[in-house]
Amino acid sequence: MKRIIIAIDGPAASGKSTTAKRVAEALGYLHIDTGAMYRAMALKVLRAKIEPNDTQKVAALADSTTVRLVNQNGHIRVVLDGKEVSDEIRLPEVTNMVSPVSTVPEVRMLMVKEQRAMGTEGGIVLEGRDIGTIVFPDADLKIFMRADARERAVRRKKELEGKGVTVALDDLERELLDRDRIDSQRSMSPLKQADDAIEVDTTHLSIDQQVEFIVTKANAIIGN
Ligand code: C5P
Repeated sequence: MKRIIIAIDGPAASGKSTTAKRVAEALGYLHIDTGAMYRAMALKVLRAKIEPNDTQKVAALADSTTVRLVNQNGHIRVVLDGKEVSDEIRLPEVTNMVSPVSTVPEVRMLMVKEQRAMGTEGGIVLEGRDIGTIVFPDADLKIFMRADARERAVRRKKELEGKGVTVALDDLERELLDRDRIDSQRSMSPLKQADDAIEVDTTHLSIDQQVEFIVTKANAIIGN
């Protein structure tokens, strides 16, 4: 049976991760959270006490970095230079510096190379910002997820509260919009909907509806 490549792109907290994970489970595919890879690089920059806007130092650090995603019993583990960092990459300090770090061309080249290597066999759902435009421009199915900024902030707030963290809704919304702005305005592989991507506005959709929509599209391509 044909094993396709599915690209899911969209702004911060648009529902990509949960949806991509569920779509991958439904199809028996691998789920690749590319944001987690950029977060791992940002964690390294944070630990090295380098300013995220110091492009040269960030680029030099990227040269000696390996970031791998390892699937362990259906859970993705993020491995930075041989050590697992799956929890640390979700720290607010990392979230705050990941977008400037992700503008650095050397960082992007490192991640894109690794992501392409994981997709050579197909049977993969990748989520990020540049999957349908740059990483896999020939992906079989491209989805671009959107949602209102306020709704995205509400979702992120619930997610953080589940981890015992309380953050004001306005602050979360500002942080999401700041990241979207940097991600959309960078010169190398900005966040942008591919011309042939299907737009899915998730503001009023449930996770089940989003997953069903994408799985139905995927099965039509696979021929199920
Ligand atoms: O998906 P997530 O919100 O965890 O991504 C964190 C950040 O990583 C994004 O805000 C963006 O700066 C960067 N990123 C990227 N390209 C991707 C995935 C994520 O630049 N393909």
